[in-house]
Amino acid sequence: MPGTNVEGSRVAFFGGSFDPPHSGHLAVARAARAALQLDRVLFAPVGAQPLKPQGSTASFQQRLAMTSLAIANEPAFQLSLADAPSNAPNYTYDTLLRLRAALSPNSTLFCLMGADSFIGLRQWHRGAEIPFIAPLIVASRPGQQLLDLANVLPAGLSIGPEATPSVVAGPELSRGLKPSPGGLRCLTLRNAAGDSVPFYLLPGLHVDISASQIRAQVRAARGRLPAGHELLTDPVAEYIADHGLYR
Ligand code: ATP
Repeated sequence: MPGTNVEGSRVAFFGGSFDPPHSGHLAVARAARAALQLDRVLFAPVGAQPLKPQGSTASFQQRLAMTSLAIANEPAFQLSLADAPSNAPNYTYDTLLRLRAALSPNSTLFCLMGADSFIGLRQWHRGAEIPFIAPLIVASRPGQQLLDLANVLPAGLSIGPEATPSVVAGPELSRGLKPSPGGLRCLTLRNAAGDSVPFYLLPGLHVDISASQIRAQVRAARGRLPAGHELLTDPVAEYIADHGLYR
């Protein structure tokens, strides 16, 4: 995994279908980077999502190419093959273990996701253990409230008290990063053994964009989104049109 082993770096794994990668993904990654002073966000298109068995409508190679185009102007964002297709199911639990082993010991690995993914965590393979491999950063999403967290936690986990942020504000501004709207909430997650880990929420994001909505719009527009939309970066929109995706 080239480029993952920088001494003491703060890295977030951001997995997804990225079918296609859109402005919502970029907004989430920018907000997380600013709030938690991340050095890198790894955009990792998944080979096949265990919980989306119908598969994606663009191939893995096409999603990889589009993701690379989407993040091309963001030096802190990197394309990652950590979740590339393999003979085994693409379980985030395994991916994070591999990534963490590849990082230097004093690096910190986070796992970034939107609220809908977090709500589904209880169905994920070893979902309750994932926050203990890589602390979660969960971004709000329209229609997916981050209020009743205790009710959506995987069995065996509970939420501890709000903690004082150990990172934020001053240094993030000095590094030229914009603070995320709505700020950062720092909680803790506890498991049945009494271990606890930080748990971060970005409650102020309301980017009403989804890949399924974009695929439907492209289909309705016969392959090319109308000019002026802010759903995707231009190179991704051109790639979709040039490759006849989602028609
Ligand atoms: P689909 O509509 O096909 O389900 P999606 O828009 O949710 O796709 P994914 O690639 O499946 O996109 O999402 C990858 C990750 O990004 C997930 O954790 C998801 O919750 C998060 N995410 C995607 N869009 C947003 C958004 N607008 N706001 C917050 N989180 C988002």
